Amino acid sequence: MEYCRRCGGPVDTVTLLGKARGRCGRCGHVEYRDLAVAAATVTEVAGGRVVLARRAIRPGFGQWVIPGGFVEAGETVAAAAVRETAEEVGLHVALAGFVGVYSYPRSRVAVVVYHAVLARPGEPAPQDGESFEARGFPREEIPWDALAFDSTRDALRDFWGRPNPG
Ligand SMILES: [Zn+2]
Repeated sequence: MEYCRRCGGPVDTVTLLGKARGRCGRCGHVEYRDLAVAAATVTEVAGGRVVLARRAIRPGFGQWVIPGGFVEAGETVAAAAVRETAEEVGLHVALAGFVGVYSYPRSRVAVVVYHAVLARPGEPAPQDGESFEARGFPREEIPWDALAFDSTRDALRDFWGRPNPG
């Protein structure tokens, strides 16, 4: 099942101008299936913990994800990563490095992931109704079997796979 990126409603396949498109059954949004760009952070907080949020929306309902979201026209990818981290988990961060770009044949989103550190002291907390919970996980407690997206899994692997993480 595919869900509307605007309202979360179920998407049906319809034929428009001879091409198969996804159209939301709830709000009518037509999905043109260009690759969208999202920005996200692997944010480190005290004790080397990494911040994850547990999603309260589909897709990935009830599962954990690094903070991130779609890049808006008129902002840089890096600025979107900082903005989305503040909006989702309430942390003001500074970007400290680049983790990777994650795209997959079956996904409509390419996720650009940065390493971030706190620019101001704070503890993660859900902000906007998109998450049930947000907290820092030590590496050995990452819920690998309950991650929402391949991009979160792969970014965390790459982050810790580097010679000197952090
Ligand atoms: Zn919709």
